[in-house]
Amino acid sequence: MREGLHKVVPTDDTIVAIATPFGRSGIGVVRISGNRSDSIAARLFKSERTLIHRYATPGQWADAKGIVIDEVVATLFKAPNTYTGEDILEISAHGNPLILTRIVGTVLEMGTRMAAAGEFTLRAVINGKMDLIQAEAVRSFIDAQTGEQARAALLQIGGALSKRIFPAKEKLVDVIAQLEAGIDFADDDVPPPKADAVAADLVQVSEALKELQASYSYGRILSSGLRLAIIGKPNVGKSSLFNRFVGQDRAIVTNVPGTTRDVVSESVSLDGVPLRFFDTAGLRDTDEAVERIGMERTIETLSEADLVLFVLDGSAAIDDLDRDIQSRIEKTAHLTIVNKCDLPEKSTVVLPGETDLIRVSAKTGEGFQHLQNAIRVFLGIKPESVSGAVMTSARQFECLSGAVRALDKGGVSLLEGVPHEMVLLDAYEALSQLNELTGEVVTEDILGRIFSTFCVGK
Ligand code: GDP
Repeated sequence: MREGLHKVVPTDDTIVAIATPFGRSGIGVVRISGNRSDSIAARLFKSERTLIHRYATPGQWADAKGIVIDEVVATLFKAPNTYTGEDILEISAHGNPLILTRIVGTVLEMGTRMAAAGEFTLRAVINGKMDLIQAEAVRSFIDAQTGEQARAALLQIGGALSKRIFPAKEKLVDVIAQLEAGIDFADDDVPPPKADAVAADLVQVSEALKELQASYSYGRILSSGLRLAIIGKPNVGKSSLFNRFVGQDRAIVTNVPGTTRDVVSESVSLDGVPLRFFDTAGLRDTDEAVERIGMERTIETLSEADLVLFVLDGSAAIDDLDRDIQSRIEKTAHLTIVNKCDLPEKSTVVLPGETDLIRVSAKTGEGFQHLQNAIRVFLGIKPESVSGAVMTSARQFECLSGAVRALDKGGVSLLEGVPHEMVLLDAYEALSQLNELTGEVVTEDILGRIFSTFCVGK
């Protein structure tokens, strides 16, 4: 059990929730966790058989007066080998919200309380069944909208990230012990640790963490989507291009709200990576003055885009507006697309500095694979997709980056002859960031932020 967490969140009561979505379905599950699970079953579950750890047992669920509510299958999981580390009772009933709510009501009458969002998983963390990284991955897994997101989350649930962080942490604790010993026993005959050897150890820890840190550039995009802005003057074929993207692989069909100024019009999936297209409608169907304002707004959205698709009309001559847009996106990562390649190309489709032109036809689909591959190259992934653990959470990335900064600072200080007492402060800072990352030391506030985004019953 994690002592610190246990103090932050009490776990001596028994919690209950409906674990399946609220609606009609073949089966609905009510989940109970806590030390009363067993006695509640003894009281309300009627069966010829006794409940045995992990055995699904058919029977009836009744209220305190003995009135049968439903035919159910109950499974008792005895602590400690359970999801939460506590006794768990899972009641599989018919998937009718009325029935499930009544079952929950009977359990509440037994002195339990409704579980808060994510509380089962929180208890798993508190009882040392998983660390915070794995718990966050559980949420990502349930929220995953593409196979690739689900794959990354599942690896994290399995501990792929944690397994790389824990050895680094152990090594850091070693370094701290060496530094402490050098200081504590300085008056005895214990020689202080050699600065360059300790610095090398710190670098080793830092390098291991930097590998994970680097995975976040892909991980961030994988979890929140690659923000793409399709930009170009009116009638070059932006909408047509967009429709072809959406038509080809309409994996995600919800409208995702973007910033207050703009709305991401649609998300699609490329190899399981969500592509979020920014609406740049401000450029269209307006007179010159308004168009300029719209243009300014569109240019603003550029700052939020990971990649700009700058579209030109290959069948028309390049004009000042094209050049104007080009000058504004020069410094932004972009792909220059010459659309309408099904029509004869004007020889003037050459912009200064734009060498890698991607010729496509939104009308016929020609060149589209080439465009997708260019996006893949930008993402840094091959079509057969990436393998290995990637960090996908902003919170985790912040902690990891904090640790790396402190380690690098400590390493440099050591080599500069800074007293070991000062270097220890950096080492402890790095350790505290890693502890926060894995959930060894967390505040109520952080827990609240993480678990409030879970669904109830998980
Ligand atoms: P937007 O204003 O940039 O969004 O451009 P639209 O997608 O509305 O397209 C403008 C016009 O160009 C429409 O009439 C489209 O049918 C046409 N168009 C778009 N893409 C192509 C293409 O690849 N080939 C041809 N021949 N016409 C296209």
